[in-house]
Formats: sequence, structure tokens, C-alpha cells
Amino acid sequence: MSCLFCRIAAGELPAHRIHEDAEVLAFLDLHPIRPGHVLVIPRDHHVWFEDMPEPLAARVMAVSQRLARALKATEGVERVAMVFTGIHVPHAHAHLVPMHHLHDISSAAYLANGLDSYSLPPQLAPAEMSAIAERLRKALA
Ligand SMILES: [Zn+2]
Repeated sequence: MSCLFCRIAAGELPAHRIHEDAEVLAFLDLHPIRPGHVLVIPRDHHVWFEDMPEPLAARVMAVSQRLARALKATEGVERVAMVFTGIHVPHAHAHLVPMHHLHDISSAAYLANGLDSYSLPPQLAPAEMSAIAERLRKALA
């Protein structure tokens, strides 16, 4: 088993475990954006979050909601971000980040006017928006 997060889930590698049950594990990120940055993973190996069976994805969300409420209390923040980026470790993992700054998990698209502002990316042309929406609706059909 070479997957880093599978090894953590199996107890082969240490982690600061915050929560664990039969399906879901949560532990501190080794390289936190902010103190209290937690990763929530399914014990089973799924590369992408959309690969998880829906009940398992719902369990990951439920644990993340509980953790977010706890993080608000322990880290003294108003909001906690949850994001799946699919970067670095190919085992689905949700990042929970106590948000001390509005750009703690930001995109460069929101930073066009610097760190102290929140820039709205430019809108796309209506025809392009319609084409994107149509493409997605066809993909869902
Ligand atoms: Zn894995």
C-alpha cells in the first residue's frame, strides 16, 4: 500500500487524529494554512471526491460539519472553509480551514486588486455562458 492517506488510515503512519469512525478519518494537515487546518478523508481509497459513493460522501460532509463547528469554537473564527482540491495526495481529502482572512483559500482570480480587496473576475459573454450551460446540461443527461 503506497498511498500516504491509506497508510495513515491503516495506522501505519502517525497523524494528529481528530476524529475516526468506521468510514471517515480526520487529522491535522502537516502543512497548515492556519492552525487547526484539518483533512477529512474516507478510509477507503478513492482518488477524486466524485468517486466516493454518495453515502460515503455524505459521511465526509457530516464529519466536516461537526469539525467546522468545533473549529469555530477552538480557533475563534467566524467561518471555516471546506474544499477538495485534488492536489498533492491522490486520495480524496477535504480541507477544513479556519478562515482568519478572506483570502485564506483564495483563487488568484479574486486577488486582481490585492490581498485587501475581493475582486470579482470578469463576466463571460452571455453566448459563452449559454454554451457552457448547454454543454453541462448535455453532460448530465
Ligand atoms: Zn489512498
